[in-house]
Amino acid sequence: MRGVVMYAPGDVRVEDREDPEIIEPTDAVIRLSATCVCGSDLWPYRGVEPVDRQVMGHEYVGVVEEVGSAVRNVGVGDFVVGSFVISDNTCEICRSGYQSKCVHASFVAQSIGTQAERARIPHADGTLVATPGQPGPELIPSLLATSDVLGTGWFAADAAQAGPGRTVAVVGDGAVGLMGVLAARELGAERIIAMSRHADRQDLARFYGATDIVAERGEEGVERVRELTEGLGAHSVIEAVGTQESMMQAVRSTRPGGYVGYVGVAHDVELPGEELFFSAVHLHGGPAPVRRFLPDLIRRVWDREIDPGRVFDLSLPLDQAAEGYRAMDERRAVKTLLTL
Ligand SMILES: [Zn+2]
Repeated sequence: MRGVVMYAPGDVRVEDREDPEIIEPTDAVIRLSATCVCGSDLWPYRGVEPVDRQVMGHEYVGVVEEVGSAVRNVGVGDFVVGSFVISDNTCEICRSGYQSKCVHASFVAQSIGTQAERARIPHADGTLVATPGQPGPELIPSLLATSDVLGTGWFAADAAQAGPGRTVAVVGDGAVGLMGVLAARELGAERIIAMSRHADRQDLARFYGATDIVAERGEEGVERVRELTEGLGAHSVIEAVGTQESMMQAVRSTRPGGYVGYVGVAHDVELPGEELFFSAVHLHGGPAPVRRFLPDLIRRVWDREIDPGRVFDLSLPLDQAAEGYRAMDERRAVKTLLTL
């Protein structure tokens, strides 16, 4: 089968990879209907994380081709969505809603690489969720978005306690930040402040429910959020970048007693203990337990309540994945869909 391999920073190739097979009785093999490039794939692409001939991709939707003898919840021919973390969905951590930290968790990105024609999904019963039927092509981008960016943005909004009467600020205008805006709107937030300097992303943020845009960053951005909230700061802040600057911008934009939901993969972030102590804010985040939200998110997409698929502003065949990475790296695209 064809699949993406990142040889080194900036060096993305599509080549023949070994076809996946059932290994464990709890496995399923799926044929991908679509896949995509994640903002987190840009960390190794830019040399921030080490990379050496790594299979790529962790977002996926597709049709089950084969199941192991122990698989019960999904069957051959089902259209399925899965999370970017494998989980059994039965252990105590899973049952508490933290499937991304399952005792059997493994990252799809590291071991499987779904920027490919087919993929082996371990713990298929726990990881995969079947849609109510075969989706039309117009639903596929939105279903694919639930696999990571929407699920992650949703978790961030949930962790930040976004809801009625709340003002939510979103740090980061990548796909996850934009999905955080959508989630905050769906959860009933009264006011949503999107922090973005880019006109096209500001437009998309407004489409997804932003009521205010703040173009400033860092301390100036914090000041603008305070001005918009009578000097108090936001109730709920979504951090969707993962840098020192973005994390501190999030903490400082939050009012005392407020909540930060942080989902940007942290890179060299160090929190100053004394400032944190006196800020009196809640911090909650990490790799999103997308599996917790998948059934609800799939239903919202299926019923056309939400349109997260608009976050894909570039669509290319899998064989042109290198250009998909380049476009995102150069900020010509928010998120690249790869068709099969
Ligand atoms: Zn588990």
